Amino acid sequence: MRIEVLCTGDELLTGITGDTNSPFFMERLFRMGEKVAWSQTVGDVREDIQRALREISGRADAALVSGGMGPTADDLTMECAAAVAGVRLVEDSRVLESIRARFAARNLVFSANNARQAQVPDGAEAVLNPVGSAPMVIQRLGRCTFFYVPGVPREYKNLVEREVLPRLEQLIRTQPARVFRASRMLKTVGLPESHLDAKVAPLARVHSRVIFGFRTHAPENHLKLVAEGESQAEADRSLADAERDCREALGAFVFGAEGDDFPGTVVRLLASRHETLSFAESCTGGLASAMVTSVPGASDVLVGSAVTYTQSLKSRWAQVPEQLLREHDAVSAPVAEAMAAGIRREAGTTWGLGITGYAGPTGGTEQDPVGTVYLALASEKDVVSQRFLFSGDRERVRQFAAYTALDMLRRRVLGVGPA
Ligand code: ATP
Ligand code: MG
Repeated sequence: MRIEVLCTGDELLTGITGDTNSPFFMERLFRMGEKVAWSQTVGDVREDIQRALREISGRADAALVSGGMGPTADDLTMECAAAVAGVRLVEDSRVLESIRARFAARNLVFSANNARQAQVPDGAEAVLNPVGSAPMVIQRLGRCTFFYVPGVPREYKNLVEREVLPRLEQLIRTQPARVFRASRMLKTVGLPESHLDAKVAPLARVHSRVIFGFRTHAPENHLKLVAEGESQAEADRSLADAERDCREALGAFVFGAEGDDFPGTVVRLLASRHETLSFAESCTGGLASAMVTSVPGASDVLVGSAVTYTQSLKSRWAQVPEQLLREHDAVSAPVAEAMAAGIRREAGTTWGLGITGYAGPTGGTEQDPVGTVYLALASEKDVVSQRFLFSGDRERVRQFAAYTALDMLRRRVLGVGPA
């Protein structure tokens, strides 16, 4: 079953409005086990709309067309649908009646313009719209069943949910060869997208029934696996095989799957072991602590944190020896380590994390330029630190620093060693 999407509207091509309608439809359709084969957007231009309709009618089994169903002169969809079918526009009395009733109920004056919305291509079926005046229209063109719906997101979603998807489900059920799908999202941290790609590329070749897709949510990278098969059992089996191989290749870089968020994973990991945490943060200004506190139940794990920007607060709140601060830069491994060990003792936690770095855009030294961050992790027995050089602007450096600090802890707790 080939299903296509056509969006119309100049506003979608000028950056004024983003297409939020299609992802809604695509996601619902995918849940039904089908995916959109082709999606395109055209402006409010007769020739472009007609050409798109003609092409779709020759190759698709069903199409969802949105926008241009309104009462104004730039609403051309019905006119184009009639032209491509070679039929006239005719007035649908049921639609006209419902628009009149809608206007009356709202005490609005009904104008000739509004009657335009009751005009549908001869031979097409109109379905009343409970949340707006433009109807949904169903038309058979060539081999394709077209569903025309208004572009207004509220009307679009309502009609797609109630009227389009049930009819598509019916069409899909009557198709002879049906494809079954199963999908899994694996979420990674600490791995640049190109490295993720390189690690799984050989697997993509082995698992030919599985589509490998990548998405960056810096600092996270996500791998989406979609398996196809002649039966659900076959798709599930292909997916399980691919997932197992990917997890093996990626190891501890994978922190979770769909539905998991990174800070939540770390909090649950510590909570399951009844371990606690504190931070001494400099360049991140509390960002790492904020990530942890965004998780419900964070109080089981986070005892407290100190944001220590100045030397004096590094020594007073995080117990960094003044001598050490005279001998080393505030952004250095010994200071990060002393911050981690100091806050851990002060807070009485299982783990202490120290974060100090140059977020930029100014600052830094020759050996430690902007983007340099020292992260340290202290336990009762030891304290370890690592130097990182993150690229990008201030926000990005801070984000990567906070994420990487949590990841350092996660890896240590899992006993898998540094990334
Ligand atoms: P109307 O009766 O309001 O004219 P219509 O069916 O003619 O409805 P459009 O004129 O194309 O639809 O768009 C109506 C509103 O919906 C506009 O504000 C437009 O920006 C918005 N819209 C249209 N298409 C989309 C889309 N794909 N995603 C998000 N918003 C959209
Ligand atoms: Mg319009």
